[in-house]
This record gives sequence, C-alpha cells and structure tokens, in this order.
Amino acid sequence: MTRGSRRRAWRNLKLGIGAAMVAASLAILWLTGLASLRLSLAEIETRAEANLAVQAAVLERLLDKFRLLSPLLARGPETGRLVSGRDISIDRTITSVAAGMSGAEEVWLMDPLGRVIVTSQHGVPFGAIGGAAAISEAFEQASQGQLGRQLIPGNPQSAASYIFASPLRNGDRLIGILAVRVSLEDVEQAWALSKDPILALDEDGRVVVTNVPGWRGRFISDIDFGRNIDDLSGLGRLGLLLPSTGAINTHMRLATSLPVLGWNVATLVSIDDARQQSAWAMVAALLGCVIAAGGLWIVLLRREEFSRQIRRDKAAALRLERRVRSRTAELRKANELLEEEVREREQAETNLRLAQAELVQAAKLATLGRMSAALSHEYNQPLAAIRSDAEVAGMLIERGRAEEARANLARIGGMVARMAEIAKTLKGFTRKSGTDIRPVSLRKVIDETLLLLQPQIKQSCIVLTTDLPETDIIVKGGQIRLEQVVINLLSNALDAVGGADRPMVALTLRLEGEEAVLRVRDNGPGIDGDVMPQIFDPFFTTKDVGAGLGLGLSIAYKIVHDFSGTLQAANRDDGGAEFTMRLPIADEQMLAAE
Ligand code: ADP
Repeated sequence: MTRGSRRRAWRNLKLGIGAAMVAASLAILWLTGLASLRLSLAEIETRAEANLAVQAAVLERLLDKFRLLSPLLARGPETGRLVSGRDISIDRTITSVAAGMSGAEEVWLMDPLGRVIVTSQHGVPFGAIGGAAAISEAFEQASQGQLGRQLIPGNPQSAASYIFASPLRNGDRLIGILAVRVSLEDVEQAWALSKDPILALDEDGRVVVTNVPGWRGRFISDIDFGRNIDDLSGLGRLGLLLPSTGAINTHMRLATSLPVLGWNVATLVSIDDARQQSAWAMVAALLGCVIAAGGLWIVLLRREEFSRQIRRDKAAALRLERRVRSRTAELRKANELLEEEVREREQAETNLRLAQAELVQAAKLATLGRMSAALSHEYNQPLAAIRSDAEVAGMLIERGRAEEARANLARIGGMVARMAEIAKTLKGFTRKSGTDIRPVSLRKVIDETLLLLQPQIKQSCIVLTTDLPETDIIVKGGQIRLEQVVINLLSNALDAVGGADRPMVALTLRLEGEEAVLRVRDNGPGIDGDVMPQIFDPFFTTKDVGAGLGLGLSIAYKIVHDFSGTLQAANRDDGGAEFTMRLPIADEQMLAAE
C-alpha cells in the first residue's frame, strides 16, 4: 500500500467515523429529548390528574350538599304551616335561617303558580325578579314531584348559579315550590388557587365554572385559548368532553366527567416546564456527545500518530537492515579482497623465498667459483714453479751438478712453505668459532699488532698514528683472534695507501657507552661503490693474483660477530676508507671470575 493511498484511506475512515459520530450524536440527542419529555410529561400528568380530581370533587361535593337541602326544607312542618298560614314574618326568618346556615345564596318559596311567597333575600331577590319564569325548567320538574334542577349560566362579571327546587305537598296536593339557589363562586374561588386553568362544561359545551373569569358562560367553541392552544377549541368539542389526555402544542389537557350532573371538568396544564427540561437534557446530552466525540477523536488521532510512529520505526529498521546488509556485503567483499591479497602476498613470499634460496645458491656457487679461482691461482703458480724447479734440479743432479740443484730445492721448499701458509689461512677460516671468550685488553691487542707490523710500516714509510685512551678497555673475546682482526684492518689500510702521496693510516680507540669502538682510517682511494656490498664476502678481492686471497675481511667479520660485536666499512668525506669495529666491554662479573 502506497503512502498516498494509505492517507486517502485514513481520511475516508476519519470522514466515515465523523459522520457516524454526528449521526449517533443526533440519535442520542433525539432519544434523550424524547425520553426526558416523556418522563416530564408523565410527572406533569400525574400531578395534574391529582389536582383535577381534587377540584372536580370540590364542585361535586358542593352540589351534593345542596341537592338534599331543598327536599329537607320542603318537608319541614314550619314550611307547610307557613304556606297555609301565610305568616310572612316567620317565613322570611325560616328562609333566611336556612340560607344562612346552609351557605346557600338564596332560599325562596313559591305558590303552585310560581309566585314568590317569601325569600331569604333582601333588596332585589333573584327569585322575586325571575319568579318561576327564571327557573322554569326546575319549576317544571318540581311541579311534577321531582327534584328540580337548573343551571343559571354565569357571565364574565358574575359566577353561575345552580337551582334546586322541591315540591311542597299537603297530602297529594301541591301547595308550593321551595327553591334553593347555590352560587358556584365558592368553587371558582377554590379553583383560583390552582395556577392552571380549570373549567367545567355542561352537556352543551358551555363553560359553567372556571378559574378564568373571561371564559365564564361562553361556549368552548367561542373561547380564544391563545395562539399556542388555538386548536384546542377544535379538539375541545370532541376531545375535552372525553376523559382523555394528550399534549397539544404548549399545553396538556386532562378531563374527567361528573356523571350525576352530566358535566365534564377539564384542566389545561402548561408543558413548558417539560419542554424546558427536555431542552436542558438535550443540551446536557449534546455536551456529553461533544465530550465523547472529542475524546474519541483524540483517541483516533493518537492511534493514527501511533500507527504512523510504528510505520516510521519499521521504515527506519528496514533502512538500518538494508544498510547493515550492504555494509556486510561490503565487508565480505573487502574480506575476500584481503584474503586474495593475503594469498597473493603468501605467493609472493613463497616466490621471494624461492628467489632468495636461488640467490643464496647462486651466491654459494659464486663464492665457490671465486674460491676455486683464487685457490687454483694460489696453488697453480707455486706448483708450476715447483715442477720446473724439480725438473731443473733433476737434470742438474743427472749431470752431477748437485750443488747447483740445492738452490732449486731450496726454492721448492720456500714455495711449499707458502702453500702451507695458504692452507693454514683456509683452516683458520673454516675453524669453528671458539668458545673461549674471556676479558681481553684492547691496548695489549693493539700493541702486539703494531709490533708485528712494525717492519712493514718502516719499510713503506707510511705514517701510522694511534689515538688510544689513557685507561685500558677490556672487551669480551680472544686475544689472538682480535689481533688477527686488527692486523687484517691495518694490512688492508697499508695496502690501500700504497699509491698515495703522503700515505697515512690512523688507529683510534674510544669507549662509547658500553662499547669499545676501534677505528682504522686511511687516505687511500676508498672503496668503490660497486664493490662495497661484497667486501665482507669470502674470497672477494680486488687485488692482483697472489697479492690477496679475499679472506681477510670475511674472517675479521666472522670473528667480531662471534664476540657479539659489529664491523662496518665506509668511505670518508675527505677521501679514504674507514673501518669501525664495535665490541661490548667486559662486565665486572666476568672480570671478577677471571
Ligand atoms: P684481500 O686483502 O686479500 O684482497 P680482504 O678481504 O682483506 O682481501 O679485502 C677485500 C677487498 O676489500 C680488497 O681486495 C679491497 O678491494 C677492499 N679493501 C679492503 N680494505 C680496503 C681499504 N682500506 N681501502 C680500500 N679498499 C679496501
């Protein structure tokens, strides 16, 4: 999956989740609002139902109480006497007392024709004005021997009244009608304590009792309930008359019936509180949704960041792995190269060793060649001389000149002696290094050497200077062999300065640190650069045949190395050669042992 497509997928997922969250929030809000509204409405309904029951009971009780008053009064003995005797003063007292004690608005008596005989009311009594005509319905019912009942509708200014009328009889004869008028104002006063509008409607839908004075006496269809409950009137005709409940716009209406009267009592309860509570619940739910959505969003973003981090780590690990792999490959390659190089070097070393071995072999052969040439020269010459001398000596002896032959024989002896000398030198070269290393005085070595060479020096008029330290230097070695070394070095120097104008040879001895340093200098021609590497080789010589065997320096080199010293040759800047011999000085332990 590429980075772009992954981003697109993630963005789509986010959009989807966002839409789902919005949808879920809306659903939660709607459900919360609905549930809260239902609960609040149920609570309001319960409260309103209780209130309605109480208020309806107030009305029913009042009318129940007065329903019995008129028959009771009509059957009383005084009432009969009063109608027959026409004692007006007593009549008034009776009606007044009855009205006062019962709380009725008015109690009055009429004759069978409907004329008012007496009334509890002073001034302008209701019964007196209207007479039987005002309560014709109730009068009619009473005349027929029943309990007459009639509603006197109210108007916005005055409350409605209810009339109960009972017949007065003397035997079977109707002698009068007793009427009781009850004002429904008391009920309205009790209802006024309730904050919700309450109204009682008769069978025709006219408002009989209400705590809203403006509605009094009007038909429910004519009442303007206000903008919010406009259509209540429409429903009212059908609905309010039934004991049903339900919410219409801003009000809930509840109704109950009073079967005895054939009336309905209804109330209108504002559901604003319920709506408000529902609105608050929705706000709280909205807040909850916002917080939950925010939390979820943060979790999503974290997740995204986390997965991005994991991807980054993975990529880094991959990069690292790739680098390690490439490095490993490089290292392997380098290793292979190194191995190859090692192989080549080993091969080169082997080749070198072979070449060295070949060289050594060649050098040995060369040395052998040089040795054969030198020895054949050294020996052939005296041998030839010996042969001719022997032949001459033989001839002389044959001729009887034995005395003359003696000289030849003496020469032969001399040459044999020389050959013996050469053999001795060769023997010295091949002799194994002696193990007899002891402290040797270098001064003594030099003195002995100079003594041996003195005749040769004197003969050649060479100037030999010596520079020796005051105190003797003792080294580890052998007296005779060290003498041989110094003789060789001085002999070579004397040979070299042979052709010089002012031949000079200098011998110096110094103590440098733990070493004795002996130098032999001359002002001869010096050593040719070409021959310098070979001068210590055995049988190497630049001298004429018979003048040198080429063993002097090689023997000296071997002796000095046997004594753990070094022997070096160099050309001096001002001409001539310089040979330097370094020998370790003898330590005190060696000297004490000696
Ligand atoms: P030889 O003296 O028999 O030739 P050496 O081994 O003593 O043999 O010397 C080898 C060679 O070293 C000589 O032939 C000569 O060429 C060179 N050589 C030795 N000493 C000197 C010197 N002091 N000056 C110049 N050349 C020297």
